Amino acid sequence: MATAGGIGGSRILLRRLREIMAAGGPAQERLDRLVQTIASTTVADVCSIYLKRGRVLELFATEGLKPEAVHRTQLAEGEGLVGLVAETGRPLSLADAPHHPRFSYRPETGEDPFQSFLGVPIVRAERVFGVMVVQNRVARVYGEDEVEALQTIAMVLAEITASGALGDLSGLTEVEAKPSRPDRLTGKAFSDGLAVGVAFLHEPHAPLGRLIADDPVAEEVRLMDAMGQVRADLDRMLEGEGGRLSGVSAEVLETFRLMVDDEGFVGRLKAGIQAGLSADAAVERVRAEHRTRMQAAKDPYLRERLNDLEDLDNRILRTLAGKTRITDLPDRTILFARDLGPAELLDYPSSKLAGVALEEGGAASHAVIVARALGVPMVGRMPGLLSRVEPGDKVVLDGERGETWLRPEPAVLAAFEERAKLRLAREEAYARLKDKPAVTLDGVKVTLLLNAGLALDVQHLDELGADGVGLFRTEFQFMVSEALPKLKAQTALYETILDAAKDRPVTFRTLDIGGDKLLPYLSTQREENPALGWRALRIGLDRPALLRYQLRALIQAAAGRRLRIMFPLVASAAEFEAARAYVDRELDWARARSGMEPSLIEVGAMLEAPSLAFCLDQLKGKADFLSIGTNDLMQYFFAADRGNARVADRYDLLSAPALRFLKAIREQADALALPLSICGEAAGRPLEAMALIGLGFRSLSMPATGIGLVKAMIRSMDAGAAAAMLEGVLSDSRPSLRGALAAYAREAEIALG
Ligand code: PEP
Ligand code: MG
Repeated sequence: MATAGGIGGSRILLRRLREIMAAGGPAQERLDRLVQTIASTTVADVCSIYLKRGRVLELFATEGLKPEAVHRTQLAEGEGLVGLVAETGRPLSLADAPHHPRFSYRPETGEDPFQSFLGVPIVRAERVFGVMVVQNRVARVYGEDEVEALQTIAMVLAEITASGALGDLSGLTEVEAKPSRPDRLTGKAFSDGLAVGVAFLHEPHAPLGRLIADDPVAEEVRLMDAMGQVRADLDRMLEGEGGRLSGVSAEVLETFRLMVDDEGFVGRLKAGIQAGLSADAAVERVRAEHRTRMQAAKDPYLRERLNDLEDLDNRILRTLAGKTRITDLPDRTILFARDLGPAELLDYPSSKLAGVALEEGGAASHAVIVARALGVPMVGRMPGLLSRVEPGDKVVLDGERGETWLRPEPAVLAAFEERAKLRLAREEAYARLKDKPAVTLDGVKVTLLLNAGLALDVQHLDELGADGVGLFRTEFQFMVSEALPKLKAQTALYETILDAAKDRPVTFRTLDIGGDKLLPYLSTQREENPALGWRALRIGLDRPALLRYQLRALIQAAAGRRLRIMFPLVASAAEFEAARAYVDRELDWARARSGMEPSLIEVGAMLEAPSLAFCLDQLKGKADFLSIGTNDLMQYFFAADRGNARVADRYDLLSAPALRFLKAIREQADALALPLSICGEAAGRPLEAMALIGLGFRSLSMPATGIGLVKAMIRSMDAGAAAAMLEGVLSDSRPSLRGALAAYAREAEIALG
C-alpha cells in the first residue's frame, strides 16, 4: 500500500474510517465504503476484507476484485495466503505472490493480474477474526511503514467491529468479532469455592472510544507523561523505596528502565500516535505484537524477555488508564490475568473480589495462598483464557472443579446456583460441627488449627471451631505495606490477632520473604533460583535488625500472654540456635525496659528443608516444637518448583517416597518427644489429611476452607484402620497413590466432602 503521504496518510484514513463508521447505515455498505476509501487514499489496486465465518474466511468486501466474489469466496482454515496470515497472526508482504507455495488461485475473484500482496490480520485480544489485504498489479515491495499503517487500520477495524458499532453484518451473526457465545475453559482448581460475577481484566485494553485521536500532540504528551511516571516508579523501586515491586526482580526492572528510554521502543509508540491512534491504542498495538512474537518464540529465554516486555506494556497501559481503575471495580469482580503476584492480588479490595481466573499460575504459589486466605475462589492454568474473555462478561467460576464458564447460558447458571445452594448447605452442616470435637471413630483426637495471614482470617476462628492458629504468616502485613511496617504497626497487628484468638494458641511465623514474596522496600539481587536462594530465615539471620524488630513487636504484643514463635526454612540446628538467641536477647531487652514479658514463650522451627529432618536430635532441648511446611518441603524433596506450572503437579505428596519421609520424621519427633504438626496446604485436603492421620500426625494446620471438610472426614474415619492400610501402600511404586487411597476411603465410608 503506497500511502499518499505514508504514515501521515494513515491518519487521514483513520479519520475517514471513523466517519464511515459513525455515519450509520447497513454494515455491508460501510465495509464497502471502507475498502473503497483505503484503495483510493492509497495507490493500491485492490483492498479486501476477509472475515471469519465459523471456520472459513469469507470475502466480505472488496475494491478491485470482482464484486460477485463477495460472500462467495470462502477459504478453508489455513488455505491460501489469506489463510496463512490468519494462521500465523502476522503480516505477510510479498512482491511475487503467485509464486508463493501457499498461493491459492480463485478464478471467481479475478485476481490473476495482481503480483504483489500485503495481508495483515484483523486481530483483537489475540484472536484473529479476519484478514485485510491490499494488492498491486506491479511487483513491489511494501515498506515497513506501509505494513504498519495497514496494521493500524486493521486494529481499529477490529475494535470497532468487536464493539458492535458495525452492527449486524448483513445478518451474518456468526461473524464473531467479539466473543459472545457461551464458552467454557478447564484448568486447575487453585482455591475452593463457587462464584458468579463480572469479568475485569488485570491487564486493561485501550478503552473503546479512545482508539483514534485527532490530536497527536496531546496524545504524545499523555504518552510521555505516563512514561515519565513509569520511569519514576521504576527508579523508586530500583532504589528500594516505596512503590510496588509486584514480584518483579531487579534485573527485569533494569531492563524495563532501559526500555522506557529506548528510542526504538518509544519511536514505535510515537509512530502509532502519528498514525492516528490514541496513546493507549498505540501501546496496545505494540503489546499485541509482543504477545504474538512471544507465542511464536521457541527459545525459552526469548519468550521470557518478550513476556517481560509485555509486563512493561501493561504497566504503561495501567498508568495511562489511571489509578482510578482498581477503585472502579464492579461489584462481584472476577479478576482475569495471565499470572499474579501475591501483592498484586492484595491490591484489589477484597470486598469486591468474587474470584480470580488465571491463564497460568502455580497451585502452591503465594497468590493462591492469598486467595485462599481471602476465601476467594481461584482457577488457573487455562491457556487462551485472555483471548476468550471480554471485560464485563458474565462469568461463573468453579473453584471446586477448576472450570470457568464465560457468558454462561441460563441453564448453566441455574445448575450452578443449585450447586451453590448445596455448598451452602454443606457449609452449614460443617458449621454445626464446629462445637463437636475432631475425634476419629476409634477415639483419636486431632488438633485442627488455622493458617492465617490477615487479621480478617482470625476473626473466623469461632465460627470455624478451630483450636487456634497453627501458622500466622506475618509477611502479609509487610507485603501490603508501601514501606517497612513500623514497630507500632507490627505490635498492633499481633495484639489484634492474640485478642481475636482469646485463649487459643497462635503460632507466629517470623517474616518469610524471598522466593516469590518480594518487598518493594527491601532490595534484593536477582538470583538464578530464588526458591533456593536468599529467603526466609536466611534473610533474618543476615539482617538481624529486621528479625529483632519483629521479635520485639511480638514480645510486646504478647506481654502477660502465651507467645509461640516459629522460624521459616530452618536448614540446620545451628541456624535455629542463632535465631533463638535473638529471641532471648529481645526478651532480656523487654524485661530491662518495661519488666513486661510473655507468660510463656515457645519457639519452634519449620521443617521445610529436608536437611533438618536429619538433625532433629540436635534440636532436642532447644526447639519447643516443629511444624512441617509441606508446600516447601515437597518442592525441595522432589526438586520441583512449587510455582512452576510445568512441574508443580508432577509429584504427589500421596506417593510412597513422600509418605515414607513424613512417617520417618513423625517417628523421630515422637521418639524425641518434640511436639509436631503439619501446616502446608495439604493438611486442609481431606484425602491428604486422612493419610497424614494414618501416618500418626495429630495436629494439622490448614486454610479456613479446610477445617469443616477435614473435621467431617476425621469424625468418619478410623485412625487405626487407616494406619494399617497406609503401612500396606508404602511399598507401592505408583507415582501417585491418590486413586488407591480414595478407593479405601469410599469403601470405609469416610466423608471426603
Ligand atoms: C509451607 O511451605 O508449607 C508453608 C506453610 O509456608 P509457605 O507456604 O508460606 O511457604
Ligand atoms: Mg514455606
